[in-house]
Amino acid sequence: MSVKIKIPASAILTAKDGMLVLENGNRCSRCDRTPAAYFETHRLKYQVGLRKKSIYSKKFDISRRYQLKIAICEICQQSDFLAQPDLLDRDGSELGRIVQFHALTRMLGGLLAALGFLLLTPFIPEGGILQPLKQIWQIPVAVGVIVLLLTWMSQRKYHQRVLADFEQKHPGFIAPHRGQVCTIVLEDEKDPSLTALELTLENEAWAKEAASINQWDCATTTEPVPDTK
Ligand SMILES: [Zn+2]
Repeated sequence: MSVKIKIPASAILTAKDGMLVLENGNRCSRCDRTPAAYFETHRLKYQVGLRKKSIYSKKFDISRRYQLKIAICEICQQSDFLAQPDLLDRDGSELGRIVQFHALTRMLGGLLAALGFLLLTPFIPEGGILQPLKQIWQIPVAVGVIVLLLTWMSQRKYHQRVLADFEQKHPGFIAPHRGQVCTIVLEDEKDPSLTALELTLENEAWAKEAASINQWDCATTTEPVPDTK
């Protein structure tokens, strides 16, 4: 059993700095441990007025990015780092900074390698202004591949270090699921009390209390929270 919280558009529209934060007395939203000093982050879009729908694109009258941040404890954050690091909240925590650094170096390595291969293609014509660069296309490719390789090695090193520490301190820990979100596209903004986001959490008591604190509707559901790991 889990609980589905119905978050109204008004809560999203009034969220400070585009961040909708869900907390409940410093308890972890997954395992109830305290303190819950970290966050599970969902990067979402508030969308109103679907105008055009095709296989390739959807257009809306209003489309605005925001983040839903749900309080979690350090153990759940470490568990996320091990299972799905790319989804980790990049909020300045040590693990968040490591993930951010790896994302940056991976992007740089990929861009350099892509630039090298682009120089090799006919898109950069022979004898053009970029001819000197075209002749050294191997350099950005090689540097890019080295950066990607170093990033991969660094990721493995941090993963193994955190995993060894985690298994020693929390043997047999079964990680609870992340919350499951479902964005609802509104027809218009006439009624901000309409549900714009549904959030399903496994921790029933925590979810009901959090909904009550915010005066949002919620209901117990038998739908399992999908395993995103
Ligand atoms: Zn936890």
